Amino acid sequence: MASTSASAGALLRHVRTGRARSRADLVALTGASRNTVSARVDQLIAANLLKEGGRGGSTGGRPPTLLQFNSRAGCVLAVDLGASSVDVAVTDLSAQILATVGHPIDIADGPRAVLAEVDQLAQKVLAEAGLAPADVCAVGVGVPGPVEFSTGRPSYPPIMPGWHDFPIPSAFGRYECPVYVDNDVNVMALGEIGVAGSVQDLLVVKVGTGIGCGVIVEGRVYRGAQGSAGDIGHIYVGQPGGRTVSCRCGQENCLEAIAGGQALLRDARAAGLRVETVRDVVQLAAHGDGAALELVRDAGRTIGTVLAALVNFFNPHRIVMTGGVARAGVPLLAGIREAVYQRSMPLAARALEITVSEAPDLSGRVGAARMAIEEFLDEDSVAELAAER
Ligand SMILES: [Zn+2]
Repeated sequence: MASTSASAGALLRHVRTGRARSRADLVALTGASRNTVSARVDQLIAANLLKEGGRGGSTGGRPPTLLQFNSRAGCVLAVDLGASSVDVAVTDLSAQILATVGHPIDIADGPRAVLAEVDQLAQKVLAEAGLAPADVCAVGVGVPGPVEFSTGRPSYPPIMPGWHDFPIPSAFGRYECPVYVDNDVNVMALGEIGVAGSVQDLLVVKVGTGIGCGVIVEGRVYRGAQGSAGDIGHIYVGQPGGRTVSCRCGQENCLEAIAGGQALLRDARAAGLRVETVRDVVQLAAHGDGAALELVRDAGRTIGTVLAALVNFFNPHRIVMTGGVARAGVPLLAGIREAVYQRSMPLAARALEITVSEAPDLSGRVGAARMAIEEFLDEDSVAELAAER
């Protein structure tokens, strides 16, 4: 079916995602006239965002000139801030990492100290990739707490003391380019979509100390009216026998109070397991300890009942599990699948894939890069870039 938009941004997106490889493909995809498409493609070539290369297969007449996205037209900085470490990468405009460096930090040292460290690391990766600050088109930052996306300011982040309302973009003044900041779950969700899968509907569920969910609709993060979409950790979950469990938010029987990492640790201790951290419980389960396995599978079932409701409501292509508890892998997935397939409607569940992240350590950086790239190459900015030439 022909889509209606043939803006420069839409044409560029079709080439970037591999849906179109020639002007003829773009005409077929958009329904726009050959002249319109050609004029906009010429603008995109002049703006250095597209290049011509090679000839496609002929269907009789002259073989078409192939179009390629010029992913080296610029670069972006990607920053993945965690509670105890930061990873900084420079990538091209296809989110391919050109250089990266990681460093331990303590997020509780506050924004000035931590962002000064990030600034040093960013200069280091740029130098390593042979790039200059002027080459940076955009910066993407993921942080472990809620963020007001429009301003890049954290909003009462529970594990980031001193960061409330701090303007994170101001720390990147030397780059004279836009800076986008979002919470780590949304950023990781973007990191989980492959280039070819960019039109997918996807839920990325992070089970760490808390539980959060990144919602991807047709390849883009869905943030909702106030930016809190996907906050599934505080959905009410009924308990057998009317048991009540209080949550740090002040309510009772929230999903994360029953099945999050801290809950898992609490229940493991109550069951007599000698464990100090959530990681210990996950490792015991990975080594086949019966009690730990049962606890992880139970957590999976509880998470699965909530996910079943989300599947009925949202009908995603895929659910990807990530975060510390997801490292338990099979037993967690088994519990989740059991509940999801039992409780969701057959049509929604039929083709649904539920998997564990394949590269949980990388998705924060790749996602931060992709967030910066998608914002930098959105409709309005591409129209501006194309018109400047
Ligand atoms: Zn709660």
